Amino acid sequence: MIKAIRGTKDILPDESRRWQKIEDESRGILNTFGYNEIRTPLIEETGLFVKTVGEDTDIVKKEMFSFVDRGQRDISLRPEGTAAIVRAYLENNLYKAQTFQKFFYIGPMFRAERPQAGRLRQFHQIGIEAIGSNHPALDAEVINILIKLLEAAGLKNYQLKLNNLGCREDRKLLSKILKEAFSKRPTVRLLCDDCKRRLKANPLRMLDCKNENCKRVVKGHFKTAEYLCKDCKEHFDEVIRFLNLLKIPYLADPYIVRGLDYYTRTVFEVTAQNLGAQNAIGAGGRYDNLISDMGGPKLGACGFALGLDRMMLALTANENSMSEKNGLALFIATIGKTAYDKAFSLLNELRNDKISCDIDYENKSLKSQMRAADKMEARLVLIIGDDEIKRQEAVLRDMKTKEQTNVKFTGIVDMVKAKLE
Ligand SMILES: [Zn+2]
Ligand SMILES: [Zn+2]
Repeated sequence: MIKAIRGTKDILPDESRRWQKIEDESRGILNTFGYNEIRTPLIEETGLFVKTVGEDTDIVKKEMFSFVDRGQRDISLRPEGTAAIVRAYLENNLYKAQTFQKFFYIGPMFRAERPQAGRLRQFHQIGIEAIGSNHPALDAEVINILIKLLEAAGLKNYQLKLNNLGCREDRKLLSKILKEAFSKRPTVRLLCDDCKRRLKANPLRMLDCKNENCKRVVKGHFKTAEYLCKDCKEHFDEVIRFLNLLKIPYLADPYIVRGLDYYTRTVFEVTAQNLGAQNAIGAGGRYDNLISDMGGPKLGACGFALGLDRMMLALTANENSMSEKNGLALFIATIGKTAYDKAFSLLNELRNDKISCDIDYENKSLKSQMRAADKMEARLVLIIGDDEIKRQEAVLRDMKTKEQTNVKFTGIVDMVKAKLE
């Protein structure tokens, strides 16, 4: 039998109900903050990610699902959301109507990583991008939303880690500081092969290497450094002031750099307990050069992405009781063909009135139909047999109180509505 591709997962109805609930609540929160949904294609030109995420990042080097299509174009499944949204923002000239705009997205992303708990090759993210402002209040708002979404979903044990990478010049200075701090150390040989390479090409990336040896070496030789220019330092102080206004606790962490090249200034990560090595559940930051680097105007921007699969995992680990069923409002049980025909058209009428209802499709006995109604957690059951057809009425049974009443066919929709109120 053909199976699902490694690293992909079916979200079955029992689980998808929880997904819908979280997505619906998230949309509500994002609306109150003035974010509008944007849907970009799942495939993009590979060059988009090479240029923005960065040639030397793990994502571009090892993790993209890339292919050459029949027209010899280099195409990749999107590994993240930001690059495509900035592309859409520029391509559709959205900034010309209004420079500052807030977007959110919900959808699948693709990375060919080694599958493990909480890490899938097709994974799902909710993310936001606020484009067109350098204001430090925006950084605090973006972080605030991430936390609001996590809390609305019922996640309790999480921690916000915050860092500031500075502007491009500051990043360069930090790279230089790191190179100098590590290059002549004998412990460099303990670093993983990636970090040995990073030390020369992109030393910032050493700071968030997941390898335990690297972590030890990095923490041994780098604690903190003065690399922020005056403007960036001030910006960071303001972000912190706004976070304090919102009473959002955070932990300053000099090792948070995020694995993408476009970040500048504020970067952050939220980690959740119970997720093991993959404990980052959401992360983001500011990307003040990305829009101009992609050919657009010089505009600041800030955003985050939240891993929905990991959030579901953390919620399960928290034993959150979110598995309530979407019970059916009404089930129609029938005996005989005439009754079935009547029920079938009645079903249509009820559904037109937005009442969730169903019927038997397997020629079951009345007893089995009642059992099925019970399984579907139907609140009401309408029973129609030959006698009922003669009298032009049905028996309406309340499954909770077990109370039964006779209802004329003509009054069924109204009666059902009244009972459900
Ligand atoms: Zn700076
Ligand atoms: Zn390493």
